[in-house]
This record gives sequence, C-alpha cells and structure tokens, in this order.
Amino acid sequence: MDFRFFSALERVFDVAPFRQRLEQIYGERNIPVLFNHRVKSVDMEARKVTFEKAMKTPSGTSTERVTVDYDFLHIVPPMSAPDFVKKSPLATNPATGVQEDWVPTDKATLVHAKYANVVSVGDVAGLPTSKTAAAIRVQAPIAAANLISLMEGQAPSHRYDGYTACPIVTQYGKVLLAEFGYDKKPRPSLPFLDPGREHEAGWLLKVHLLRPMYLKVC
Ligand SMILES: Cc1cc2nc3c(=O)[nH]c(=O)nc-3n(C[C@H](O)[C@H](O)[C@H](O)COP(=O)(O)OP(=O)(O)OC[C@H]3O[C@@H](n4cnc5c(N)ncnc54)[C@H](O)[C@@H]3O)c2cc1C
Repeated sequence: MDFRFFSALERVFDVAPFRQRLEQIYGERNIPVLFNHRVKSVDMEARKVTFEKAMKTPSGTSTERVTVDYDFLHIVPPMSAPDFVKKSPLATNPATGVQEDWVPTDKATLVHAKYANVVSVGDVAGLPTSKTAAAIRVQAPIAAANLISLMEGQAPSHRYDGYTACPIVTQYGKVLLAEFGYDKKPRPSLPFLDPGREHEAGWLLKVHLLRPMYLKVC
C-alpha cells in the first residue's frame, strides 16, 4: 500500500522532541511527507485531489497546482470557531478591527481582548496552544476564578501557561503523549517515561482513562 501525508504546514509538529519522533516514524514506514500543500479541490468521480503547493523563491513565495490520484482520501478541513461566534463582535480583534477565526483572548488570564466580562476556554479561544480537552481541563478553573474576580471588581490573578496534551496514536496499543505549554517545552505528566517515545501507558490513558477523567473527575 502506498501512503502519502500532505500538510498545509511546514512541519509535522511544532514541538521537539515530538516532531523528531514523528518524522522518524514516517521515515520508518516509508511514508513521504509533503509540506506546504493546501487542498483546493477534490474530483470524487475521477478520484483526484488538487493541492496548491507553496514554494519559497528569492523574491517571495510562488504557488503551483499539484493533482494527485487517490484510492482513499482522508482530509482534515481548516478549523475555526462556529459561525455564530466567528461572525459576531466576539471574534473582532479590537487592535486591528479584523474579524478573526477565533475569539481574541488574553493568553494568560483568558479574558476577552475587548470585553472584560467575557472569558474564553476551549476550541473557540484564540490561544497559541493546541486545542484539546486536556487544555480545557486546566483553562476552566482559571477562567472561572478570573471571571469571579472581575465580577467582584478585582483584577484577574489566575494565569494559564498554555498546558495542553495531544495523545498521538502511532500504532495499535501505543501513543506518543505530546504534553507542552506556551514555551513549547515538553511537560510530561509521567516523568519516568521518555516523553519523546510512544508508549503503552499513553494508550491506556487515551483509550481508557481520559474520557472518564474529563467527564467525571475534573
Ligand atoms: C478526532 C479528535 C480527537 C481528539 N482527541 C483528543 C484527546 O485524545 N484528548 C484531548 O484532550 N482532546 C482531544 N481532542 C480535542 C477535543 O475534543 C476538543 O479540544 C474539545 O472537545 C473542545 O471542546 P469545546 O467544548 O471547546 O468545543 P466542542 O467540543 O466543539 O463543543 C462545542 C459545542 O457547541 C455546539 N454548538 C455549535 N454551534 C452551536 C450553536 N449554534 N448553538 C448551540 N450549540 C452549538 C456543538 O454542537 C458542540 O457540542 C480531539 C479532537 C478530535 C477532533
């Protein structure tokens, strides 16, 4: 079977050592990784996908169209807040007046960049970290505490450091648990395990523990 991985980005993952390990895994499995490829159209009858490929040139960036045949295509669409948020004043950046894809949010206090009586958590919040339920688990109590402070006329004092956790399934029974914060440094919850390697403990966590943990314990 011939697998290929196309990404609109410039790297497989933003944070070392997870990036290096993922690159190794693609290499070990002979899966070519092609960056700067953005899907423009899909011809489902002919089973062809067309990308716009961006290339750096001495004078800037140029693009070309690349069409690839496929038998099976898995696409992750571009993400944004839902329309009822994105098209509301909540998504307008007060500094630029531009409507953004996410709610402009102070990355530490989680308070809205314009409306001091609004806090944001979760996927909708424009925070420079990966959007996960693990991140929300940490954000929610901070946002709640800061909202209470604001309602009492005090400055928000609780601060979020960008903690997030991406459990990346690398094979059946193993997970590379990428935990990190705004500083893009690994923040392993299981410090006795090499954070840059996939392990069974991560699988147990992802498959059996996370859901009840998020829904019942936290
Ligand atoms: C495939 C996949 C795997 C993931 N795995 C993990 C993982 O292992 N660990 C982890 O921590 N995170 C994981 N995540 C990320 C995690 O699921 C999200 O970060 C989290 O669910 C976001 O929660 P949220 O409440 O912010 O948004 P959502 O869960 O998207 O909730 C938003 C809710 O708003 C509702 N809504 C939308 N529009 C309207 C409207 N107009 N009116 C009323 N309701 C509306 C939606 O129906 C939805 O229920 C995964 C995500 C995906 C897609």
